[in-house]
Amino acid sequence: MSITPLMPVYPRCGVRPVRGEHCHLIDEDGTRYLDFASGIAVNLLGHSHEGLIGAIQRQAATLMHVSNLYGSPQGEALAQRLVDLTFADTVFFTNSGAEAVECAIKTARSYHQHVGNEDKYELITFKNAFHGRTMATISASNQDKMHKGFMPLLAGFKYAEFDDLESARALMGPNTAGFLVEPIQGEGGIRPASEAFMQGLRNLADENDLMLVLDEVQCGVARTGTFYAYEQYGIEPDILATAKGIGGGFPLGACLATEKAARGMVIGAHGSTYGGNPLAMAAGSAVLDAVANDEFLAQVRKKGERLRSRLEQFIGNYPELFDCVRGRGLMLGLRMKTESRPFYAHLRDKHHLLTVAAGDNTLRILPPLVAGDAEFDEFFDKLSAGAADYQPAEAA
Ligand SMILES: *Cc1c(COP(=O)(O)O)cnc(C)c1O
Repeated sequence: MSITPLMPVYPRCGVRPVRGEHCHLIDEDGTRYLDFASGIAVNLLGHSHEGLIGAIQRQAATLMHVSNLYGSPQGEALAQRLVDLTFADTVFFTNSGAEAVECAIKTARSYHQHVGNEDKYELITFKNAFHGRTMATISASNQDKMHKGFMPLLAGFKYAEFDDLESARALMGPNTAGFLVEPIQGEGGIRPASEAFMQGLRNLADENDLMLVLDEVQCGVARTGTFYAYEQYGIEPDILATAKGIGGGFPLGACLATEKAARGMVIGAHGSTYGGNPLAMAAGSAVLDAVANDEFLAQVRKKGERLRSRLEQFIGNYPELFDCVRGRGLMLGLRMKTESRPFYAHLRDKHHLLTVAAGDNTLRILPPLVAGDAEFDEFFDKLSAGAADYQPAEAA
């Protein structure tokens, strides 16, 4: 037998973390890495946050799981907080981002089909989007590499150009149910949509009774300096998928919706065995305790601005390597003029700095939101050293 016990679907690197300390990871042989990947925008509070750890420990000892057959004081409390903090009137809890997007897709379809509009099932999505790895969420993305071997795709998705309102408008037709979009594409290369585009989608949705569905799985939960990124666009969605950061490392996601959008999500319409169990609710509450306040969000914005201006200064020293800095808050991307993957591997292996590679030759810089000056200084030490001794050909 040559297949590995862990199904070999990931190109795993040689870093094998066994312990976390604040913004660092320590691997099997004791090597310390500065973690500016945060488990891909998950570990908002780093790896040693007492509030989060304590909440999970206490809840684990009290009650972990009971199923959604029973009333949920824990779920009601967290859902109420999310309703108070956002556009939403109602929340469905999931265990992952893809499930949150699945629920969002189902909610958008059911908005129309619940009242008999059976042919309104199509969502207009955007090129280079990433929405997850289930059949529906890979079907929602135009990326062939995720489709190969899994055909046929689920029907009901059309792909427009990202940040191009006319392209989206041109795909509208009698089957259109709404739009599904990341306000800031993550995997696609930290590409923020423009305000005009997001407001244009909102207007198209309003004029045609369509659902505006946001995938904030990566950019949501304080990452960009507001609780959700949509707040920076002067619009509100009808439906929003959130996950990654919301559990701070505990698997948790949610689909948020207005009362109007959720009119089809009635008893029996949807479900999840684990979704919203007391342990997950304790983790989510602890994350909100830490991040869902003006002071923390202002800090993220300030740190983001500082990090960004230092990055912009830094790339000026290497015009042959770097193209630009983009993103919002602490969701930043360094677009390279050469392939970003070899540089990402070089930073990791030679300088023990963890970032995340993304599309469009972009390096994602996603520090824990609790990172401070000491971590940012260490980041620039490693990044500068990494740029200075980088040989694109050697690493490729
Ligand atoms: C990561 C991600 C997902 C999928 O989340 P999973 O928890 O891996 O299922 C969906 N949408 C976006 C924008 C993401 O970044």
